[in-house]
Amino acid sequence: MLNGTAASDGIGIGRAMIIEEHSLDYTPKTITDTDAESQRFKNAVKIFCDNTTAQAEALRKSTGDKEAEILEGHIQIMRDPYMCGEIEKLISDGQCAEAALEHMCDMFITMFSAADDELTKQRASDVKDIKTSVLSILLGVNEVKISAAPKGTVIVAKELTPSMTAGINKENIVGIVTETGGKTSHSAILARALEIPAVLSVDGAAKKLSAGEQVIVDGNEGIVIASPEESQIEQYTQKRSAFLRERRELENYRGKKTLSASGEEYELFCNIGKPDDAISAMEFDGEGVGLFRTEFLFMDRNSVPTEDEQFEAYKKAVLILKGKPLIIRTLDVGGDKDLPYLGLKKEENPFMGYRAIRYCLDNRELFKTQIRAILRASAFGDIRIMFPLVTCVDELRAGKELVEKAKEELRESKINFNENIKIGVMMETSSAAVIADVLAKESDFFSIGTNDLTGYTMACDRGNSDVSYLYSALQPSVLRLIKNIIDCGIKNNIPVGMCGEAAANSMIIPLLISFGLTEFSVSAPSVLKVRKVISTWTKAEADKVAEKVMSMSTEKEIYDYLKTVI
Ligand code: PEP
Ligand code: MG
Repeated sequence: MLNGTAASDGIGIGRAMIIEEHSLDYTPKTITDTDAESQRFKNAVKIFCDNTTAQAEALRKSTGDKEAEILEGHIQIMRDPYMCGEIEKLISDGQCAEAALEHMCDMFITMFSAADDELTKQRASDVKDIKTSVLSILLGVNEVKISAAPKGTVIVAKELTPSMTAGINKENIVGIVTETGGKTSHSAILARALEIPAVLSVDGAAKKLSAGEQVIVDGNEGIVIASPEESQIEQYTQKRSAFLRERRELENYRGKKTLSASGEEYELFCNIGKPDDAISAMEFDGEGVGLFRTEFLFMDRNSVPTEDEQFEAYKKAVLILKGKPLIIRTLDVGGDKDLPYLGLKKEENPFMGYRAIRYCLDNRELFKTQIRAILRASAFGDIRIMFPLVTCVDELRAGKELVEKAKEELRESKINFNENIKIGVMMETSSAAVIADVLAKESDFFSIGTNDLTGYTMACDRGNSDVSYLYSALQPSVLRLIKNIIDCGIKNNIPVGMCGEAAANSMIIPLLISFGLTEFSVSAPSVLKVRKVISTWTKAEADKVAEKVMSMSTEKEIYDYLKTVI
């Protein structure tokens, strides 16, 4: 079994086609007839542009505009006047077209690869792809024809370039395995758009798998099984049927509003951890982002990200969302989320300790830096601020004061931001839930974090298996607190959402509809499923279920009853 990055959902069972890189070696020559060489280069560029336009058109029909635009971008790069002009200059100095092309492309590849942000880095692989295609044309080497792959093919390649992907006939290709690429690489985006299961970054895949060998690609779990046993084929065939059945059904909910069966409309947002995750949120048809866990920006590095770094990250996410809301949760460190470079003390009781807004209010410069970055990004879209782990009004007031201070500084420096930015509270402690009436008077919105709310209410660590029998959002105490938070939101005219895992739980959804929740924020792959579940309930039916549930005394009773109604 080989492990990699689960990049496109689904199960594929087929025979491996190993895409080997063919040699593009050549011996550089000194050119005397530079006009003829320049014409040879121009012809190659024309063939490249014609081929790529045809591929983009095919892709536009099979998958959509966004994917075709990636290839059209290649034409723009190759036609870029600076790029072409420099290549022509090298040719007129006597270099052959191959060497001139390679020289310029390599220069751009080095430059783009050194960039910090993923999007610019991605441009390096675009230029590599262009270089290979134009060199193949100049050298008269035939590129591998994925378009000729027979039915039931699993493509195995070092890297899947956009132009290779464009040749894919989705009727024939059942899976993709590559040795490079992450969840947000072009290969991944295209594989998802084509709905082909894909596992990327599988170390040495092209060597470990052989041409014609039977292969199972599990794009849900990021697993590749070579030469599977009969029983594994049976097991995965069943998994595939169930997956396809559900996907077909869920597709009916794409592009639709999120409506209950009685017509009430809800907002259905996604939870994200990195700016690029906003791409998946949009791909999965999310209507915005209800929780951006910003601590991920602070992880895997040795120092606090600067204001500019954070600003770029928040701006990138909100631009990807194209006008849809982005709720940014300020830094939630401590507890189970340690950042070694902050030098946090080991605590006896980390979940009750120095974490989240408590830490931030005590480290005001770090907190203000984050708030300034969020405010600056708010000039580019609908950004809202949310404070984590609030337990009392004082914390909310102190947080809001700091926002005011940051606003003043930005005003003085004449930096744009949204003056009316909304500030909300993450309702995830039992204390906040009990004083929801008071907090609602000073908040613009609430978002219920059931992951922590359940833990704090049941005095039970979510990671401790010895007490996991208590950890359930269906506990009568937790449900009462959720209801109280929503009631107080309604009384004070502020919207109440939920970004904890319970928002995607089909047993809890009818209760949330009945209580009056207005926004659900879930992981991107759950969007269509939650939209479907919401659509099956009328408000009146949900009310009946909720009334019965709220009269019950134990979690087991509630669980057993809800099992019978969903
Ligand atoms: C929560 O507590 O419900 C939540 C969404 O936050 P996290 O899981 O990041 O603690
Ligand atoms: Mg939490």
